[in-house]
Amino acid sequence: MSKPNLSAEVLISALEQAIDATVIIDDRNEVIFFNQAASNLWGLDKKDVLGRNVNVLVPTLHQAGHDAFVERSRGSEHNRIVGTSREVEFTRSDGEYICGELSLSKVVTDDGRIFFMGVMKNVTTESQQRKILILQNDVLQALASDMMIQDVADLLCRRVESFVPGTVAVLMLITPDGQLRVLSSPTLPKRYRASLESLYVSSSELEKLRVDPMHATRMVWDSYRSLGISLGLQQCFCTPVSTRSGQVKGIFALYAREDQGRNTWPQRIVDSCIPFCALAFEQNATQEHISHLANFDSLTGLLNRSSVHKVIEGMISKQDGNRQFAIFMLDIDRFRDINDALGHVYADQFLVEIAGRIRSIAKEDYVLSRSGGDEFVVVVPNCPHKEATAFAKHLLATMTLPMQIGQNTLTISCSIGISTYPDNGPDSESLLSTADVALRQAKEDGRGIFRFANLEKNQVAQDRLVLGSALRDSLAKGMLNLHYQPQVRTHTLELSGVEALSRWHHPHLGNIFPSRFIAVAEETGQIEAIGRWSLLEACRQIVKWDRDGIHVPTVAVNLSAVHFRNRALPEHIAALLKNHNLKPSRLTVEITESVMMDNSRDTEEVLQSIRNIGCGLSMDDFGTGYSSLSRLTRLPLTEIKIDRSFINDFEHDTNAQAVTMAVIGIGSRLGMTVVTEGVETEQQRDLLEQLNCDVMQGYLFAKPLLAPDDFEKWMRHHKTIRQMLPATPAAKNVSPKKKSS
Ligand code: C2E
Ligand code: MG
Ligand code: MG
Repeated sequence: MSKPNLSAEVLISALEQAIDATVIIDDRNEVIFFNQAASNLWGLDKKDVLGRNVNVLVPTLHQAGHDAFVERSRGSEHNRIVGTSREVEFTRSDGEYICGELSLSKVVTDDGRIFFMGVMKNVTTESQQRKILILQNDVLQALASDMMIQDVADLLCRRVESFVPGTVAVLMLITPDGQLRVLSSPTLPKRYRASLESLYVSSSELEKLRVDPMHATRMVWDSYRSLGISLGLQQCFCTPVSTRSGQVKGIFALYAREDQGRNTWPQRIVDSCIPFCALAFEQNATQEHISHLANFDSLTGLLNRSSVHKVIEGMISKQDGNRQFAIFMLDIDRFRDINDALGHVYADQFLVEIAGRIRSIAKEDYVLSRSGGDEFVVVVPNCPHKEATAFAKHLLATMTLPMQIGQNTLTISCSIGISTYPDNGPDSESLLSTADVALRQAKEDGRGIFRFANLEKNQVAQDRLVLGSALRDSLAKGMLNLHYQPQVRTHTLELSGVEALSRWHHPHLGNIFPSRFIAVAEETGQIEAIGRWSLLEACRQIVKWDRDGIHVPTVAVNLSAVHFRNRALPEHIAALLKNHNLKPSRLTVEITESVMMDNSRDTEEVLQSIRNIGCGLSMDDFGTGYSSLSRLTRLPLTEIKIDRSFINDFEHDTNAQAVTMAVIGIGSRLGMTVVTEGVETEQQRDLLEQLNCDVMQGYLFAKPLLAPDDFEKWMRHHKTIRQMLPATPAAKNVSPKKKSS
C-alpha cells in the first residue's frame, strides 16, 4: 500500500482551517502556530501572538501542560503523540470570561526536536451551566435542611465569589418598613455596608424596582460609586429579588474589584441566583409565619398561653435586680351569655375589640396575651402595689365603655386578679395560678372588680400552688439541706444522737420552714421523695462523721405517715444501711402520732419490719394527738419524744410536770428512752434531771446545725463543757437502758 501524499502545506492548511482553536509552541514556549479559530477564541491577532511566550494566552498553560505531559510520555517512543486534556479559564481580550477544554500533545520529530500542540474547545457555556447547577444544588439542599436564611445567604455569597474571582457578593433584604438590610456580605467593606443599610426604600422606589430591574444598580451602586471606588470596587452587577407574587423583597448584587469589560458571566450568575434568593426569602417568611402562629393567638394577634409563660420566665431570669412586675388576669363577666346572644362570629369580633382596648392603654413594654377563651393576661414591668391599683382601675373603666358589635351596643364588665413577682411566686406557673385564684375571688366578691392575690387568705391552697412547684424544682436540683440538732443525755451531757431536720432555702422565696413545706409536700405527693432523700443524706453524713472521727451514735430521721403505707420502706432502709456499711442502730425513724393511730395492717407490719432490721423507732411529739398510753405498748417503739408544748411552761405548769413524770415512768418500764424536746432553760433542764428524763433536745444545747462546720464547732465546744463537769453521776442514771423489741 502506498503512503498517502501529505505535504507540509496540506497539513498546515488543514490545521489552519480546523474548527477548534489550535496552537503550537516550541520547546522554548514560543508560539509558532496560531490558527483562525484560536484567533477568534482569544480575540487576538495572529501577528500579536506568533513568536511570543505562551503566557500571553494562558498564564499557566505551558507549565501545567508540560508537567502533565512529561508524566505521561515517560518511556514513550519517538514520533509518537501522547495527549492530555484539562479545563483552563482565561479572560478574552475584550474581557469576556472563557472556559476552554485544552488537549495538549507533545510532538517529537525524527530529528529529535520537541513541540507542543494545544487544541482548545470553548466550553464556557457548559462550564457556567455546571457551576450554576452546583450553586442551585447547594442552595436547595440548604433550604431543604431548614437552615436559617442568614446561613443560606452566606453559602450563596461565598459560592458566587468563588465562581467569579475578584468579586464581592451581597444579598440584601427590604424589610416591610422599607429598610435595606444586608443579610450576607462576607467580604463587603464595612463602610459600604453601613451606607447600604442607611438606605430607605419607599413604596415608589419599590415600584420602580419592580418595573425596571436596572433601578437596582442606581440604588446600590450609582449613588455610592465614589465610596465604592475608594474602597477598591469598580463595578456592580445586580438584580432585584421578587417573589412569585411579584413583590420585590430584596436585591442581589455582585461588586467586581476589576473592570469586567464585556464579561457577561457576573451578570449571568447574578441573574441565575435570583430564583434561589426568592425561594430563601419565601421560606424565611414561612418560618416566621409558623413561629408567629406558634406564639400568637390567631384571633387577636396577642401572645398565646404558652408564650406568655415563656416571656414571664424570661423576665424572672433577667439578672438586673429590677425584676419586680405585676400580672393582671382579666376575665369578661358573663361571657357565656354574651357568646350565646351574639353568636360565634360576633363573639369573636367582641374579643378582638377587647384586645384592642387593652392594647390602647398598654405601654410598649407591657406583655399582652389572650390565654384562652375570654381570659386575657397583661404583665406590667416595675409595677408596685399603687401603680397596679391604678392600672387595674384603668382597665376596668376601659372595659365598661359601651361598644358596638354588629347591630348591638354592649356594655360589659370584667373582673381582674392580680399577682406580683416576687411576692406571689417564684415562677410563671405559680404567678399565673395565684392571679387566677385572685380572679376567682374577684368574681366571688361581686364581679366588675379587681383583687390582689393574698398570701394570708387561703394560705393552704396558695401554698400548694406556689410552694408545690417550687419545692419540686428545688428537690430536683438538690437545693434542700439537712440540719442536725444534738440530743444529749440528761445526767452526763454525752451526745446520744442527733435529729435530722430538713431545711429549704429558695433563691427567690427565701427560707421556708418545715412547718410550712412538709404539709405542702404531703399534699402535693412529694413527701416520700423528701423522706428517701433525708434517709440517704443522713446515712452519707454518718459515714462522713465516722471517717472524720466524730462520734454520733445515732441519727433520727422524720418520716410522714404515708411512708409507712409503702411496704417497700423496710427493704429500702435495709439496702441503704447495707450500701453505707452502717449498723442499723445508727438510724432512728421518727413517727408521728397519726402513724400510731393508723390501724392499717400495712403500717403495723412496716413498723415491725423496720424494728426487726434493728433501727430505732421513735414516737415524735408525744402528747399532742389522741393516742392512748395503752397503744404505746402495742407498738415496737424504742423511744418516746415528749412534745415541746409540755416543756414550754414546764417550770410553772404542774399538770405538764405530772404528765411528763407519768410518761417517763411508763417509758422506763417499757424499756424505752424518753426524750424531751424544746428544752430552752436551765430550770427546765434541772427539773427534767430530777424526773429522770433520759435525753434532752432543745435550744439550751443547740439549734439544728448545719454539718460539717456549725456542727463540728458545737461538738468541740460541747466537749470542753463536758470536761469541766463534776465527776460522772451515779451509774444507774447514765447506763443506757435495755430496749424492748
Ligand atoms: P419535730 O420533729 O418535732 O422537730 C423538732 C422541731 O422543734 C424542729 O423544728 C426544731 O427546730 C424545733 N426545736 C428544737 N428545739 C427547740 C427549742 O428549744 N425551742 C423551740 N421553740 N423549738 C425547738 P423544725 O425544724 O421547724 O421542724 C418542725 C417539724 O417539721 C418537725 O418537728 C418535723 O415534724 C417536721 N420535719 C422537719 N424535717 C422533716 C423531714 O425531713 N421530714 C418530715 N417528714 N418532717 C420533717
Ligand atoms: Mg422529729
Ligand atoms: Mg417533735
